[in-house]
Parts: sequence; structure tokens; C-alpha cells
Amino acid sequence: MKIATPAGYLESLESLERDVYVLGERCECAARHPMVRPAANAVAETYDLESEAEAERLLLTESHLTGRTVSRFTHIHQSTDDLVDKVLMQRFLGRRTATCFQRCVGMDGLNALYSVTHECDAAHGTGYHRRLRDYIEWVQDENVVVEGAMTDTKGDRSLRPGEQPDPDAFLHVVDQSAEGITVRGAKAHQTGAINSHEILVMPTTAMREGEEEYAVSFAVPADSKGVTFILGRQPSDTRKLEDSPLDVGNPMYGSQEALVVFDDVFVPRERVFMCGEVDVSGYVVERFAAFHRQSYGGCKVGVGDVLVGAARLASLYQGVDRASHVRDKMTEMVHLNETLFACGIACSSMGRATAAGNYEVDPLLANVCKLNVTRFPFEIARLLQDIAGGIVVTMPSEKDFRNPDIAPYLEKYLKCADGYTALDRVKILKFIENVTVGCGASAYLTESIHGAGSPQAQRIMIARLAELDKKAELARRIAGI
Ligand SMILES: Cc1cc2nc3c(=O)[nH]c(=O)nc-3n(C[C@H](O)[C@H](O)[C@H](O)COP(=O)(O)OP(=O)(O)OC[C@H]3O[C@@H](n4cnc5c(N)ncnc54)[C@H](O)[C@@H]3O)c2cc1C
Repeated sequence: MKIATPAGYLESLESLERDVYVLGERCECAARHPMVRPAANAVAETYDLESEAEAERLLLTESHLTGRTVSRFTHIHQSTDDLVDKVLMQRFLGRRTATCFQRCVGMDGLNALYSVTHECDAAHGTGYHRRLRDYIEWVQDENVVVEGAMTDTKGDRSLRPGEQPDPDAFLHVVDQSAEGITVRGAKAHQTGAINSHEILVMPTTAMREGEEEYAVSFAVPADSKGVTFILGRQPSDTRKLEDSPLDVGNPMYGSQEALVVFDDVFVPRERVFMCGEVDVSGYVVERFAAFHRQSYGGCKVGVGDVLVGAARLASLYQGVDRASHVRDKMTEMVHLNETLFACGIACSSMGRATAAGNYEVDPLLANVCKLNVTRFPFEIARLLQDIAGGIVVTMPSEKDFRNPDIAPYLEKYLKCADGYTALDRVKILKFIENVTVGCGASAYLTESIHGAGSPQAQRIMIARLAELDKKAELARRIAGI
């Protein structure tokens, strides 16, 4: 693997020559920008094989393409054990970063396309699967970060792609030749885009006859001509510019989304994995969504573990650790968190082989997993804020702690239980603020609702997979009807 360490990864970002905009200004070196760096640090953790004993087993595996050791983030799952290990890796990294480490979307996109390109070739005589395998082999050897770009900007939600007043509301092919295709449009809310080397584009919805130009999938380097990144804002994000790490709450790690604009970007044929095959476009969406809905049963659970720990510390520092209702609330937090984990493991264990030979998750259980994720983190956050107290949103700043005129007041009046300083208390409360209402809430809360599709998308899949008539038959037999 060419990029093999966190430092190597961070250096590799600096060599990319991209058009990145942060707060309205073009940013020469995005990776070093204080609003981007914590997110890059979170991705860098996916390259850290040394800090903990389990890291190597979880983060590395054997490529079925080459037999070489590769990052699991570039791997095509070969068994249900692989699917389970993916979830364990995500929980592990959620625990280390307490945020989104951004590398799952690409892994989930590659796994979805692996089986769909195989089926597309069988139906249409196209040669996409071979191309994709070559691309995956390259990604594995280079060990680059791939952003999975599905969500179009979508314009008027009531209109199909071809009916939009602006034809670029959904990314589409505007020109093609024997050498390649030219695409225009934009992908919204792109997690980790500014920390990625490659962008893997997929259609956002199942396309129909007449919508061939929108049924397109391809990969391009992040520094391709015509690609522009505009960093998305997060609550309290400019605290990262204030030189007050305490006020950030999780100063080392963060997440990041961007609007990625494709302004007539050329894609060579060998990186095109779908172009006009509307009948298989929906499979990419469904399979990517299923893999990504499984992912949430690992990553958010890891963050949940840190939140349970934060509740414990806050209760100790504030002298309520023995109160029965506080203990009960922590039990409830664990119950909710482990329920999410159980769903992530269940859809993995019940996975099955595709015609291409790779393994996909059980789609019904993956959708149940994600629908729970749209709710439980909010309840966990609510319980955590309850235990933390109102001070979560009324704390003074780090600069107040640094001012000798008022610091003694803070140390005196913000101290609670004996044995713990006011500053320790404030540190854990600032972290709780970060995840429940600050910039960390983008990843833990809003992403839990909309990432991998809004709740209604999961309900539609659950309804479709529910086999209601089969269940009615069970009831009919038992009731003797
Ligand atoms: C933090 C975060 C990270 C993300 N990361 C990625 C990423 O890395 N890659 C990626 O591709 N995407 C990513 N997404 C995008 C995510 O998949 C979308 O947010 C999600 O699919 C919802 O789309 P939307 O945000 O455009 O909301 P909208 O589509 O505007 O939905 C808003 C509401 O309208 C409803 N609605 C929408 N269309 C219709 C319709 N036609 N009929 C009826 N109701 C409708 C929805 O159900 C929802 O309730 C991310 C999102 C977030 C918030």
C-alpha cells in the first residue's frame, strides 16, 4: 500500500491541486485549513495501525483480487465474516474519533458497483466489471481515499431529472466520444470530499427510459479539471479559528461535507462504470444504500460508546454518579446504542453472495438498522444533555479560563465533586456540547437522519421487503381460516 501511515496520508492531501473554497475564499492548501484539518485527522485514523493492538486486524485484510494486504476501506467483502468485521472496524474508529471518519461512502460505493457492473455486463455485454476491478486494484495498491458521491442537488423534488427547469439539477452526461464522457452537475453533502483523492460518482435514484444521460457512474481524481469543492458549514465551526481548543470540544477530530461541482469534467472510458443503462441504475442506489445503512450500525455506535463514557464522567464530576435515575439513564443509553450495533451485526451475519461473488448485507435488516439510527442517537443525546445539565449551553469560554481576573471565579464556582477540577468538568461538557449541538452534531445527529437516505427511503424499502402476504398466510393457518 503506497499510503501507509497517518502522516503519509496527510502529506498526500497537500500534493493535490484542487479548487477548494472555504468561507468564500479559494483555499490553497485545504488540508491545513483549521476548519478542515480536524476532519482530515479523523480520516488519518483509518491509516493508524499502531496506536492500538486490534487496529491491524480490523483495518487490514487480504485482497481477493491480488492476495495482497489492503485497507478494509478498499476491500470487496468476500463473506459474512468480512461484513461483520467491517462493522467492528467502524465501531472501533467511531470510538477513537467520536465523529465521522468519512471513508465508508467510497467503500460502500465500490462494493455496490462490484455486483451491479457484473450484472450489467451479463445483460448488456458491456465491459464495466473488468474496468471496475482494475480500478479497485489501483485504489487498493495506492490506498487512496475514495468519496462515494451519490446525492444530486435534485432541484424541484416533485420533478424527474429530465423535467427539471435546469437540466444540471441531476448530474448528467453532456458529451461523449470513444475516449470518454463529459459530465455536468453537482453532488451535495459530500462527506470527506475535501479529504479524498478520488470521487466515485453514482446515480442518485433509479433512472427510467428517456433518462439515459443521468444513469452514469464513474471515478475521477479529486483534482480533475472542472471539479470545485465548496466546504459546508457546521454549527460553531468558526470556533476552530479562535485558537481555543477547549471551546471546540473535540479539537482533534471532526467531520466535513462539501458541495462538489462538476463543470464539464472529462472522464476517460476506463473510469466509466455505467453510461445509459437505466435498468441497472436502481440496483446501484439500493445496494449502496443497504451497505451504507449497515455502516451506521458501526460508526454511530462507536460514537455512542464515547457518549456513554462522557455521561459517566459528567455524573462523577458533578456528584450524581450514584443517583438511581442517572444510572438508569446510562443503562438506557447503552441499550439504545447496543440495539443499533445488533442491527449492524444482524444484517451482516444474514448477508449473502451475489452473482459476482462478493457479499451483500440483508437489505431488510440494513434498512431497519438505519431507521433506528434516525431516532436512537437523538434519544441518546437527549439523555446525555439531561445528565450533563444546563451548563452544556451556558459555559464560559477558554479565554475566560485564561484571564487571571476571572479564572479564580470559574475554578471556584464551576467546581462540583471533590477530587475533580472545574476545568476537567468543563472539558467533558464542551465535548458533550460539540456532539449534541455543536459541529459534531452534524455527524452524530443530522447525518443520522439523512445520511444514506432520509427516513422515508428506509420505510419504502422496509414496506417493499416486508412480505405482508406471506405473513398473512401464517396468521391464516394459525387461526384456522
Ligand atoms: C451529514 C451528511 C452527510 C452526507 N454524506 C453524503 C455522502 O457522502 N455522499 C452522498 O452521496 N450523500 C451524502 N449525504 C446526502 C444524503 O444521502 C441526503 O441528505 C439524503 O438522501 C436526503 O436528501 P436531501 O438532503 O437532498 O433531502 P431532501 O431530498 O430535500 O429531503 C427532504 C425531505 O423531503 C422528502 N422528499 C424528498 N424528495 C421527495 C419526493 N420526491 N417525494 C416526497 N418526499 C420527498 C424527504 O423524504 C425528506 O423528508 C449526506 C447527508 C448529510 C446530512
